[in-house]
Amino acid sequence: MAFEELNLAPGTWLAVDCGSLPSESNCHVVIAAPESQREDLVDAATGHAADKHGHTNDEALRSAVSGTVQTVQV
Ligand SMILES: [Zn+2]
Repeated sequence: MAFEELNLAPGTWLAVDCGSLPSESNCHVVIAAPESQREDLVDAATGHAADKHGHTNDEALRSAVSGTVQTVQV
C-alpha cells in the first residue's frame, strides 16, 4: 500500500515525530491529525512518550511535545 492510499483529507495536517523528541530510544513513530485536532494530537503523542519512553505525563512533557508539532500539507 502506498502512503497516498491512506486517503487523508486534503488540507493542513499536524504531525509529531517521536524521533525528534529527546529520548535514548530509537523510536520513529509519527502521529498525525488534522489541524483542527491539535489537542488530540498532542494528547496522543504525550501519552505515547509517557507510556513507551518512561516520561512523566505532565504539563512540561505536554509543552515539549507541543513544541515539536510540524505542519504538513496534504
Ligand atoms: Zn516513541
